[in-house]
Amino acid sequence: MADVEPLEVFRTEVRDWLADNFDPALKGRHSPMGMVDGPTDMSPDMVAWRTALGERGFGVPNWPKEYGGAGLSPQEIAVLDDEMRKVGAYNPVGGLAVGMFAPTLMEFGTEEQKLRMLPPLADGSTRGCQGYSEPGAGSDLANVQSFAEDKGDHYLINGQKTWQSGGQWADFCFGLFRTDKSTKHDGITFLVVDMDQPGIERRPIKMISGLSPFCETFFTDVKVPKENRIGEEGKGWTIGKRLLQFERAGIGGGGARAMMRSLADHAKKYVEVNDNGEIADKELRLKIIKHEMTVRNFMGTVGRARREAREQGGPSAASSVLKNIGAKLAQERTDLMIEVMGMQGLGWEGEGFEPDELKTTRTWLWNRAVTIYGGSTEIQNNIISKRVLGMLDHQ
Ligand SMILES: Cc1cc2nc3c(=O)[nH]c(=O)nc-3n(C[C@H](O)[C@H](O)[C@H](O)COP(=O)(O)OP(=O)(O)OC[C@H]3O[C@@H](n4cnc5c(N)ncnc54)[C@H](O)[C@@H]3O)c2cc1C
Repeated sequence: MADVEPLEVFRTEVRDWLADNFDPALKGRHSPMGMVDGPTDMSPDMVAWRTALGERGFGVPNWPKEYGGAGLSPQEIAVLDDEMRKVGAYNPVGGLAVGMFAPTLMEFGTEEQKLRMLPPLADGSTRGCQGYSEPGAGSDLANVQSFAEDKGDHYLINGQKTWQSGGQWADFCFGLFRTDKSTKHDGITFLVVDMDQPGIERRPIKMISGLSPFCETFFTDVKVPKENRIGEEGKGWTIGKRLLQFERAGIGGGGARAMMRSLADHAKKYVEVNDNGEIADKELRLKIIKHEMTVRNFMGTVGRARREAREQGGPSAASSVLKNIGAKLAQERTDLMIEVMGMQGLGWEGEGFEPDELKTTRTWLWNRAVTIYGGSTEIQNNIISKRVLGMLDHQ
């Protein structure tokens, strides 16, 4: 009983706060600051909502207060989510820097860096992109060649990054840069680069889905002050790998959330239904049931992994398992969605298709990418065999 009371007090507080700050006209306009969502929504009511969330720390409710969070417990966060859902509110604060860079900075950054870099992420006023991949460094990420030359109080960067999700809308880039050409892993340093400065050229890349959610970026004599180096020089590989664990855990978990919508309900719009209200085609029905059961099991596992991660101070190499299963299920799901839609699943644009149908086709195409980004399926299998199963360890 003693535990319940403060939670109920908090619930009332949240309700009152939502009544004062969430304008119902914002309902349905959720535009998360993720990687494919275009520029940040700067309309005055959305900015006001983000600012209100930021001031109360509710944009990143689990972060400590000094970094812009609200320092809430998991139980309080559940109450906050619940009350937000009831009034149709949502949290537009997020994106790659919040999900991947921030927890890494909390582990490896100095107090000065945390106090400087985290609050603008917490209130959604700044956005970051990941500068890891290069034309010759994808799976072999430690091969990065973009060079950061030591110039005393700053580094001077020359080189190229590619596949930078949301790079064209980002205020800064967190990434891996070479500071020593004589050694591979120990020659890498983790830097935070201001993207709004001379010498940076961003070129958007178009995908098969028709979206252009990322770009290649060219760096010519770009200045990075030394206070933007995270960790020691030459220690970027360790920090960079930790960030990837946060990324993979996020991809697995995000995939699970995207699978909450009932596939059976979707199918019933397009295929014959029997007198019991079931999908008439037994084979298709079984396929869908099997998929839904696997998704539910996966969601349970994601929940357990999250709890473990909280207790153990962050995700482990097992995040590669979640990434691979989440990616496989996401692809299987959109394959099934397209299969039941028949011709309606083949629309690209124009009349004869509902907006939701066109979106499904593009999501199906977009999902080709989930087995690639965050490290390909084959690379996750290598990590699982080495770091989870202990089968081989060369480095
Ligand atoms: C939608 C999307 C968003 C992305 N966003 C970002 C981003 O924001 N920032 C960023 O830095 N990067 C980003 N990436 C890049 C992504 O991390 C790389 O594409 C990925 O790591 C694979 O690298 P690659 O494309 O160079 O393929 P390659 O490394 O050339 O791999 C080609 C193929 O060979 C296989 N392969 C390679 N090495 C091995 C091995 N040792 N064992 C077994 N198989 C192997 C791979 O699995 C793959 O199938 C994004 C990619 C996509 C598709």
